[in-house]
Amino acid sequence: MTGRARGRVRWPRKGRDGRAGGRFSSMGSEDSTVDDFRPHTDRLIESNGAYAELFHNSDLQVRPTLQIAVVACMDSRMDIFQILGLQHGQAHVIRNAGGVITDDVVRSVFLSQRAMGTREVVLLHHTNCGLEKLDAMGLRRELEETTGVRPAWTFESFESPYDDVRQSIRRLQLSPFIPHKDHIRGFVYDVVTGRLQEVELASS
Ligand SMILES: [Zn+2]
Repeated sequence: MTGRARGRVRWPRKGRDGRAGGRFSSMGSEDSTVDDFRPHTDRLIESNGAYAELFHNSDLQVRPTLQIAVVACMDSRMDIFQILGLQHGQAHVIRNAGGVITDDVVRSVFLSQRAMGTREVVLLHHTNCGLEKLDAMGLRRELEETTGVRPAWTFESFESPYDDVRQSIRRLQLSPFIPHKDHIRGFVYDVVTGRLQEVELASS
């Protein structure tokens, strides 16, 4: 393999002493294919040129017309607009690894409601999530050993996406910074069937 992994943090490999390889292997993202990497941003810029040629959304309003905020995992298999039949301009979509209700998501939901008039929150987690298989303790230990810094955040790994949705609903409901809590619903998206399954808070 040739080439360099430019711009990518290379984590020291363990293993000479018989220990397991870098714990990132638990995420299915070990370095074996790193040298094959090619950036695609130039292709995206090219695509944007074609997009702008046909652009017809110039008159969209900044406030989401359906007054909905969706909090979803960043998983690349989930096209939130297609999954939910949304059009541009209708909803805020807030995404991170796992669709976790972090302080920053609370910040976004607060602003979504307070400044942009949304009143309803839809939480969207999914089956086969990367966080579901993550050795969070090991990865955290590796980060600290490698960098000398213990991250202030946690990986928020979980056993069940259904329980994780319940955890997210509870976090929103308990947050003092969320103005509107009457319409918070959570779902698990099945990446095989494309279907949503609603998660009821009471059935945990
Ligand atoms: Zn995910």
